[in-house]
Amino acid sequence: MQKIEHIGIAVKNLEESNILFAKLLGKKHYKIEEVASEGVKTSFFKIGSNKIELLEATNPNSPIAKFLEKKGEGVHHIAFAVTDIKKEIKRLKKEGFIVLNDPEISGLKKGADNKLVAFLHPKSTNGVLIELCQEINTK
Ligand code: ZN
Repeated sequence: MQKIEHIGIAVKNLEESNILFAKLLGKKHYKIEEVASEGVKTSFFKIGSNKIELLEATNPNSPIAKFLEKKGEGVHHIAFAVTDIKKEIKRLKKEGFIVLNDPEISGLKKGADNKLVAFLHPKSTNGVLIELCQEINTK
């Protein structure tokens, strides 16, 4: 793994949280993106070489809606940048981590911010949802 790419925070109201985080960080979000397949609307803030991703549910079946219901607002996941996501998943599976969207079964997911993403189940990572993300090369 290369570095922490971003930290994902589940929020009830993206618009209000965008204002709150702009006050906190002293700068505005640089993009808003909806990932319809995941039922989320996201916004991104740059902070140094890392990012903060705010996530709002767009429907009641969204994983974010379920998270908010269970735990309320707060840190939802930590995302690590990787250069070769398939290789990394293979390595992590061998180490006993549970991959949520196993690319060998369902194919890799396209996440927000032009990334291929995969998640590790929190029950295999001390309760923290881990996202792996690899930049999609656009030529
Ligand atoms: Zn994320």
